[in-house]
Amino acid sequence: MILEVSDIKTFYNETQALFGVSLEIKQGEVVALLGPNGAGKTTTLRSILGLTPARSGSIRFDGSDITHSATHEISRLGIGWVPDDRRIFPTLTVARNLAIARKQTRFRTWSLKEMFGIFSALEHLMDRECENLSGGEMQMVAISRALLGAPGLVLFDEPTQGLAPKVAQDVMATVSRLRDASISALVVEQNAVVALQSSDRAYVMDRGRIVHHGLACELLADDELRVSLLGV
Ligand code: ATP
Repeated sequence: MILEVSDIKTFYNETQALFGVSLEIKQGEVVALLGPNGAGKTTTLRSILGLTPARSGSIRFDGSDITHSATHEISRLGIGWVPDDRRIFPTLTVARNLAIARKQTRFRTWSLKEMFGIFSALEHLMDRECENLSGGEMQMVAISRALLGAPGLVLFDEPTQGLAPKVAQDVMATVSRLRDASISALVVEQNAVVALQSSDRAYVMDRGRIVHHGLACELLADDELRVSLLGV
């Protein structure tokens, strides 16, 4: 297992948001994390990243206990993050945003040339200031930035949010191709069907708990179960 989250409980001050969440991701696996607003999906990502550390339970990544590690240490071990606001430096060029994302981990490093192979439009955007990019272009930069950090696992928070349907599908196709490079992905999505189509397995959360987990294809095929869990 590349990631093992065991029975974590996470709080915002005295308000409990996670009530014993457990999930596992194997190397090269794409896993969807689904559920309604307020279910605790973002809080699960924040706990893994050390932004809102779990108060109990444990989180192991690539053999290390990271439950109480600082965010920069977790990043250095090889967990990449594509936040929902894409968190790009708006006044810097694409080239600069990508240059400052580079780091070495024990995982595979990526060259800019490989990024241009994945996102053909990126090469022509390098001198553009990021505030002038479209939503889809920004998402390309955000994903490229995560990959240039040499991750073994990438956490995606609503990667298709605000994107046109075709662009959203392209983004998810890119996410699902990460498994070819043995990179794992945990994908939080509102767009459950698109996420399931690109994932190996899925976890569904509700009110701070995991209420279902199984193969993504099974949840796609079982209309009754999917509608009862996800409403779509
Ligand atoms: P969404 O899709 O709306 O982002 P989510 O599944 O990601 O939902 P979380 O954002 O993880 O859910 O929220 C889980 C719970 O924690 C909710 O009850 C939410 O109100 C609460 N919460 C989230 N962030 C904070 C915060 N900064 N302070 C206090 N409570 C918070």
